[in-house]
Amino acid sequence: MSDTLGYIHSIETFGSVDGPGVRFVVFMQGCKFRCAFCHNPDTWKLMHKENGTSQKETSEPIADSNNVEVYSPEGLLKKALRYKTYWGDEGGITVSGGEPLLQIDFLIEFFELCKKNNVHTCLDTAGEPYINEELVEKCNDEKELKAYAMNLGAKDKTEIKEKASEWHEKLLRLMKSTDIVLLDIKQINNEKHKALVGFSNENVLAMAKELDQLNVPVYIRHVLLPEYKDEANDSTLKKISDDEKDLHDLRAFIDTLHNVKKVEVLPYHTLGVFKYESLGIDYRLKDIDPPTDERIDHAKQILCQ
Ligand code: SF4
Repeated sequence: MSDTLGYIHSIETFGSVDGPGVRFVVFMQGCKFRCAFCHNPDTWKLMHKENGTSQKETSEPIADSNNVEVYSPEGLLKKALRYKTYWGDEGGITVSGGEPLLQIDFLIEFFELCKKNNVHTCLDTAGEPYINEELVEKCNDEKELKAYAMNLGAKDKTEIKEKASEWHEKLLRLMKSTDIVLLDIKQINNEKHKALVGFSNENVLAMAKELDQLNVPVYIRHVLLPEYKDEANDSTLKKISDDEKDLHDLRAFIDTLHNVKKVEVLPYHTLGVFKYESLGIDYRLKDIDPPTDERIDHAKQILCQ
């Protein structure tokens, strides 16, 4: 049995919206993005490294004090295979989050095991840990370099590039056992992306281009927010997501890719707001209602047709 453990927030045994067909969906713990609309802030906390949690390997989950379940790749697959008869020809396993790529070593072992068992694999990611070495090379923004260094535990630009290159090798290996990627593009306008998510979108877009070069099938997913004025950060950010130009710019970017099988518009919703209250985290989109059906249809016309 593997020594690599996966730290898992929750599991949905009959998922129907995260990839093709009926799927066993695994929501991994940990995320460094801070999307204003996130409905799962309880997945943010990183358990696997920062806490130094030392759980022994297991084929059944061990719940720790934060209700995070810990699985070996073999144990998780064993659990998932109980539902295999429901997957039909199209379905399989999706690993979502949080940000699953933060646990890439576990993902590699888990997906390779899935493929050995003829299971269809789907990765649902926001591309968050992807760091393009060329972008690092030309980056002169101290704040951004500091964020790269912190993310990778590197001390300078050279070490950032070395660690990014090591991580990239892992991604290439993971893609060999990944049948489809659901890639979130939160905002095509970089300044708005920074305000909405807390990070630049440059690496996310670079990852989209690389998946295209690798010819990995992709669904692009975009959360549609209605008009949103973020007074705290920038009063000029009038429309974050449901903005005509941004939607057309996103469509133009998607049109440069050859591997996109589907584009999904995910309407913003408020179902996770209560979690912010219970976690004592300020919710930035207070008083923002979900977009109307009309605006959802409008965005779909631009992005999906
Ligand atoms: S990437 Fe996903 S889990 Fe992370 S903050 Fe954004 S919506 Fe939430």
